[in-house]
Amino acid sequence: MPNITNDYYDVIVIGTGPAGFASAVRSAQLGLKTACINTRHDANNKDTHLNTGDIATMALLDSAKKYHSLIYDCAQHGIFANEIKLDMSIMLQRKDNILAEIGDKMVELFNTHKIGHIHAKARLLNPQQVEITADDTGIKTVINAKYIILATGSEAITLPNIQIDNEYIFDAKAALNIDKVPNKLAIIGAGVMGLELANIWSRLGASTILLEAQENFLSVLDQQISGAAFSLFQNQGLDLRLGARVLSAKKGNKNIAIEYQDQDGTHTLKVDTVIVACGSRPNTANLAAPEANLLLDQDGYVYVDDNCRTNLPGVYAVGDLTLLGPMLAHKGIEEGIFVADFIAGINNPINYEIVPSVIYTEPEIAWVGQTEQALRASGEEIKIAIHPIKKNIRALAMDKQEGLVKIIAHAHSDKILGVHIIGTQASELIAEAVLALEFSASSEDLARTIHARPTLSEAVHDAALILKDRVFQQSEY
Ligand code: AMP
Repeated sequence: MPNITNDYYDVIVIGTGPAGFASAVRSAQLGLKTACINTRHDANNKDTHLNTGDIATMALLDSAKKYHSLIYDCAQHGIFANEIKLDMSIMLQRKDNILAEIGDKMVELFNTHKIGHIHAKARLLNPQQVEITADDTGIKTVINAKYIILATGSEAITLPNIQIDNEYIFDAKAALNIDKVPNKLAIIGAGVMGLELANIWSRLGASTILLEAQENFLSVLDQQISGAAFSLFQNQGLDLRLGARVLSAKKGNKNIAIEYQDQDGTHTLKVDTVIVACGSRPNTANLAAPEANLLLDQDGYVYVDDNCRTNLPGVYAVGDLTLLGPMLAHKGIEEGIFVADFIAGINNPINYEIVPSVIYTEPEIAWVGQTEQALRASGEEIKIAIHPIKKNIRALAMDKQEGLVKIIAHAHSDKILGVHIIGTQASELIAEAVLALEFSASSEDLARTIHARPTLSEAVHDAALILKDRVFQQSEY
């Protein structure tokens, strides 16, 4: 029987990923007595953001880009380096140091805001009680709260016939800790995670094959962007095999044999390393006791209404746990803040229509709003401008001329309905488009906005100018 404590909080947040962390800090800022519960993520007892691999991915991608550019790009700048060496242990240590620094900052913020930080596994018992099992002692205790916010995030999906050993066959999270560059790497799943990992490991020198079950590459994207991405990644040397459903992967003496099926039949592929990047599922196993009656859907997502309220009074769910909006850190952070405000009586609803999405490859892919195919399917009358990044002079100076900016606006009202970018620093460029959609801007508004020269942002401006039939385009000379 667990101990029942007299500890009483206004808000208990379960999970310290981006969404839970934001929720806890905002609750405390609003004067609510708050506790945040999370098991420790690593053996060194560091508090980290490890529920998401996004920061680790960024750190490694940056290292990989530097290495790659030293080998392939620097000579044209007149920079020659002999004996380029790669030390994976230093690269991984740098990434871990960044994560540790973020962890330290989180703890600092928890302390500043007097948030109770509990290292334990939490289980929801009922709308006002959480059972916690302490990480260090294993002792079970029950704590009480007026409101409970579930923010346990998601975990990588594995495949039934593939045994992850994190030595030869890795899940997407462990793939950020591989300490030797594979010779021949197969990544199962060419979705967001698979592509980001492919960009890291291929730049570090691994011959990389992506096996993707779907026939359509990145089907949620605007089709023109996914088409451009496919060609660009292929030109970079990624071996992208679509319609290739992996059935099994077996470790032999010398290599791993992957069996996959496509329209031509069943094939065997031999590689030395495999990464399974088949998407994520919500971390809801054992999150609530059965008698709590927390409503989940068949895939384990927590049922919520538009205000992140679960079926239990006073219990909310934010971030990757729900099907509201995409599984992205910034969406979770917004929800975390929204729920804390909502509890405190402030209602600042989230506009899920304009959550930006980013794929952190090189070039990056970023978009906001609707795709051309979705708008055409709904019969919307639209106009479209496409500006190739090769016309942008800053991109020319940077030698990063791949990609395009696409703006879709309403044919009559001129309101911007979607912006889709593939190109270097697309993740930064998209911010302007998000702001434009937030303010219901027209393409005219964007065209009239002065952009600094020479910048990559001129590519967005130039796309808007195309919609205005402006003959002269700023960066085209
Ligand atoms: P994401 O959720 O963006 O990380 O994408 C995961 C990708 O993995 C999706 O595009 C799936 O189609 C793909 N996938 C899932 N199962 C398999 C499988 N058995 N073989 C190949 N690809 C798969």
